[in-house]
Amino acid sequence: MTKPAFATHEVFNQSPPFEDVDLFALDRPLAEAVAANGGAAAERELSEFGRHWGSAAMAERGRVANENSPKLKTFDARGNRRDEVEFHPAYHELMARSAHAGVHNSTWTALGAPAGDAAEVVRAAKFYIAAQVETGHLCPITMTRASVAALAVEPDVLTKTMPVIATRAYDPSFAPWWTKRGMTLGMGMTEKQGGTDVRSNMTHASRDGSAYRITGHKWFMSAPMCDAFLVLAQADQGLTCFFMPRFAPDGSVNAIQFQRLKDKLGNRSNASSEAEFTGAYAERVGEEGKGIRTIIQMVQLTRQDCAIASAGLMRSGLAHALHHARHRSVFQKHLADQPLMQAVLADMALHVEASIALVMRLCRAFDQAPADAGEAAYMRLLTPAIKYWVCKSAPGFLYEAMECLGGNGYVEEGILARHYRESPVNAIWEGSGNVMCLDVLRALSREPDAGMAVLQDIAGETQGLPGSGETVASIAKSFRRPDGERVARLAVEKLALLAAAAALNKISPPHAELFAATRLATSHASMYGAVDLAGDDISGLLQRALP
Ligand SMILES: Cc1cc2nc3c(=O)[nH]c(=O)nc-3n(C[C@H](O)[C@H](O)[C@H](O)COP(=O)(O)OP(=O)(O)OC[C@H]3O[C@@H](n4cnc5c(N)ncnc54)[C@H](O)[C@@H]3O)c2cc1C
Repeated sequence: MTKPAFATHEVFNQSPPFEDVDLFALDRPLAEAVAANGGAAAERELSEFGRHWGSAAMAERGRVANENSPKLKTFDARGNRRDEVEFHPAYHELMARSAHAGVHNSTWTALGAPAGDAAEVVRAAKFYIAAQVETGHLCPITMTRASVAALAVEPDVLTKTMPVIATRAYDPSFAPWWTKRGMTLGMGMTEKQGGTDVRSNMTHASRDGSAYRITGHKWFMSAPMCDAFLVLAQADQGLTCFFMPRFAPDGSVNAIQFQRLKDKLGNRSNASSEAEFTGAYAERVGEEGKGIRTIIQMVQLTRQDCAIASAGLMRSGLAHALHHARHRSVFQKHLADQPLMQAVLADMALHVEASIALVMRLCRAFDQAPADAGEAAYMRLLTPAIKYWVCKSAPGFLYEAMECLGGNGYVEEGILARHYRESPVNAIWEGSGNVMCLDVLRALSREPDAGMAVLQDIAGETQGLPGSGETVASIAKSFRRPDGERVARLAVEKLALLAAAAALNKISPPHAELFAATRLATSHASMYGAVDLAGDDISGLLQRALP
């Protein structure tokens, strides 16, 4: 019988979904970067995590959590204030899976001290993998783990909260934190009149016995259903950091009101609120007047996570692009076998190899910093430089990855449109690009000898690589200039590129050579693929990226 003319034709030459894969085992540059930075023993744990997060079920949760963005319930049916945000169950499931794997706390001991060994590296690998599936929920995950660094300044607050922070349970109930199986923490710094310039904060703190009452607003306060927030407010002695729980000690709902949720470009599974405090109960964290110094302990860690997440988004873009190119035929030949597409994909693979090598090198510095001054100096100088370079490179990279999938890349059924919309935020929050460059300059001006020693070490590690000598000289010259701010982006980008070449040189010297030849000896072209790589180099890079 002939088919009716309107019957849907057979579907062919479409790539199968990139799902039900092990996102760790398939990623040789990741596995090698983890091993090179002390995390080899966690291979099995990471593979289990990679399989779980690479499943079709997790991909579906990521999609659904973003298509059903959170809703603010300001009032109940009778007009009483409620100030609750409702999330889709898929979001809660993502949170539970990340918490179960310790992504929100595994770098700390049960007492809130740094866990040591390769805890940062192993947790970063999980964060990198989870970011490939769903990044919105990672906002409260990163803030919770980072908050411990600030709480450490106030042992009383840390000691009482740590037993609840340290569990691997996710408890979304709206209840006082001390009654819960697990808790999450957020942060409120940015106000209408200033985000970068937090000294302009107008929110006011007045003493109430041993605690404080906070009155004012926050213009961006993400993950509003967190159990507590670290907020900045002006006390008698100046800007101060506070622990502000959703419930006051008497069990009543604290005076935190949400005005509305932001309508964002991406990051849609995550809620970002505008909040007002009307005499909200809070406890001081650190000395009055030392608020920035206290909360910066937290921000240093969230900046690290921005870089990890952006690297993860790019890895996902590369994996999807390569997977598609291996299945899609154009002019009777798979895209992956077309020389021009190979040049694009290989250049992208080189960028991801360098990014993950660099990010893991940074995480090793976080692991070793408590006992090693050199690693502490690396961490201080390179965190803003790496956040700057990795995060700012992600949107352009993801656009290119999207284009590798042609029209399929641009539609919402695939993950690349979501990744693309998500990617700019890591460069903006936790200190935007220029602010990162200024922070590198600040680190160098405060501790010039330590900063220059880090540069010398990186120079030694890149010796002999194409363009490294000139790059080192150019960085040192720029940083010495009295008008250094004007060339700070130039110098910071070069610093990140040099550090990436050094990190890659420890893992895969041939790829460090290629990276240096295309990024240090000459400026990288504005488009991926505008490089002259040898055939063997191309096939090697692509095989490592996705066997
Ligand atoms: C989705 C989302 C969620 C967020 N969640 C939170 C949250 O939970 N808690 C929170 O506290 N904040 C949050 N923020 C706010 C975020 O951290 C700030 O928006 C960010 O730090 C930038 O501050 P700003 O918006 O005030 O911009 P501004 O400070 O006005 O900066 C604007 C631009 O000027 C540049 N700039 C600033 N100073 C200088 C200078 N001296 N020289 C040259 N250039 C400069 C910056 O790099 C930036 O590009 C969130 C933001 C977004 C987008």
